[in-house]
Amino acid sequence: MPVCWRILPVLWKKIIFKAERMKQKEAALVCFSGGQVSTPCLFWAKNYFERVEAVIFRYGQRHVREIEIAGHIATEANVPFQVLDLSLLSQLAPNALTDHTLVMDEEQPAGSYPNTFVPGRNMLFLTFAAILARSKGIFHLVTGVSEADYSGYPDCRDTFIRSLNVTLNLAMDEQFVVHTPLMNRDKSQVWALADELGVLDLVRTQTLTCYNGIPADGCGCCPACKLRRAGLEKYQNSL
Ligand code: ZN
Repeated sequence: MPVCWRILPVLWKKIIFKAERMKQKEAALVCFSGGQVSTPCLFWAKNYFERVEAVIFRYGQRHVREIEIAGHIATEANVPFQVLDLSLLSQLAPNALTDHTLVMDEEQPAGSYPNTFVPGRNMLFLTFAAILARSKGIFHLVTGVSEADYSGYPDCRDTFIRSLNVTLNLAMDEQFVVHTPLMNRDKSQVWALADELGVLDLVRTQTLTCYNGIPADGCGCCPACKLRRAGLEKYQNSL
């Protein structure tokens, strides 16, 4: 095994130690989109940290309304936020989230990713978030990625997040901790978390997940709406 891979678990243990030691005492920056997934994350962070800020990315997404809604929810949650422009992402690789002429894949094609996959998106988002956080003296980052329910996108996986966390620390000679409270939760368990945090109604009525830009229950037909509804129904049936 190469030396660089042997050292990863050691560095990761240091990060976990810092996370436990510092919890509830420091500030965190949340990667926020105003959706059904990142909104419970925002409120999870508010429960966990003394001070929370949010970063919202503009990356040429189909519906700029997403940014407006995210700002509104952050304001309502009393969380200061900053919108970062990463619209260059749409210039790098064709994908259905930023290219309005592409029809979104409803299913994952065999041996490939759906065309809603934006290569490297989470890596770039977290890297820019870390640089921004460092400038604010914030070293805890929160992201809503999950490997339980997300078409197997490679940069949603726990292994990737751990690896990037180590890389960020080495790149900036800092001790960032990337928190992923949803890593092992499927969509129904994210609804359960929203309920535990007392924000189920807020998530249900104010967030935007729909690919057609319709908040709350959305259009009901697009893949995002179907996943969202199936998750909610599964949670409600479990009560
Ligand atoms: Zn929809």
